Amino acid sequence: MGKNAIEIKGLKKVYKGRGGADDKLALKGIDLNIPQGSMFGLLGPNGAGKSTTINILAGLVNKSEGSASIWGFDIDEHPRNARANIGIVPQELMFDAFFTPREMLEVQAGMYGVPKAERRTEELLKAVHLLDKADAYSRSLSGGMKRRLLVAKALVHNPPVLVLDEPTAGVDIELRQQLWDYVRELHARGTTVVLTTHYLEEAEELCDEIAIINHGDVVCCEPTGQLLKRIDEKEVLITVSDALKQVPDALKQFKSTLRDPHHLAVQISQADANVGAVLTAVQMAGLTITDIKTEETDLEDIFLQLTSTTGEAA
Ligand code: ADP
Ligand code: MG
Repeated sequence: MGKNAIEIKGLKKVYKGRGGADDKLALKGIDLNIPQGSMFGLLGPNGAGKSTTINILAGLVNKSEGSASIWGFDIDEHPRNARANIGIVPQELMFDAFFTPREMLEVQAGMYGVPKAERRTEELLKAVHLLDKADAYSRSLSGGMKRRLLVAKALVHNPPVLVLDEPTAGVDIELRQQLWDYVRELHARGTTVVLTTHYLEEAEELCDEIAIINHGDVVCCEPTGQLLKRIDEKEVLITVSDALKQVPDALKQFKSTLRDPHHLAVQISQADANVGAVLTAVQMAGLTITDIKTEETDLEDIFLQLTSTTGEAA
């Protein structure tokens, strides 16, 4: 076992409501270890507790119980050291609209006590493709540009751990790719990267390890490949030009249902990935396929699958 970049033990958060009646238990006492050097995904639907976890690490939210350490430094006992070893890109785009990107990075570097000679303002602006906006008012930047500027801001003190909370919110596809290229580069150079997302595809594509969080609990935490094997089924929706009254015999060997006369839904196991066999069966039945769609794996389905495998997932 290698060392952990982040260790979380029994972390609990209650957001106090008025009079205690509407207290919100956002984290139920989670344990989480994030290995050094990993590209780690914290995956879960909206409201699961991802930002709460991140914001506790960032020192923006006070925990109710439990402990957390960053790069070996307990956030209570050594808050400055803990803070120095992590760079966090928050989910909310918080901005001082009157600073230019260059000023913003300089101010941030000053706050972290980075000496002038060691500052990397130009390099960082270039890396996030904002050099041409270096002296523009931040309020004139698009959502995607702001997100990238916040990535640069999180990196001014050269932390070994970079955390991105829902990094693709409001970032268009092309720039998203640039952002990922840069994050991958940082990871290749040794930075531990943690990202939260509610898109399985995103976590699947980028992360080597994924923890799933739901209703303030960590449902599972394992290498991406292993997790995907457990997410068993995928649905293939086939549109046919023929009007069907029932599922053709040739398809009865599969878990299939007739949605309406022109749409067949077939559940296939991802492990077998036998889409070819399904399509062959459809053609054998003499049907003409006009469209095929595979449904995105629904996170809710995954939770159900994971939590129903008795004991194993808990
Ligand atoms: P996620 O980032 O996974 O979408 P959050 O950590 O933001 O989830 O929220 C977890 C739960 O805590 C949600 O039910 C949310 O409504 C609640 N919550 C988050 N922030 C606050 C707050 N400041 N006050 C009260 N409840 C909050
Ligand atoms: Mg969030």
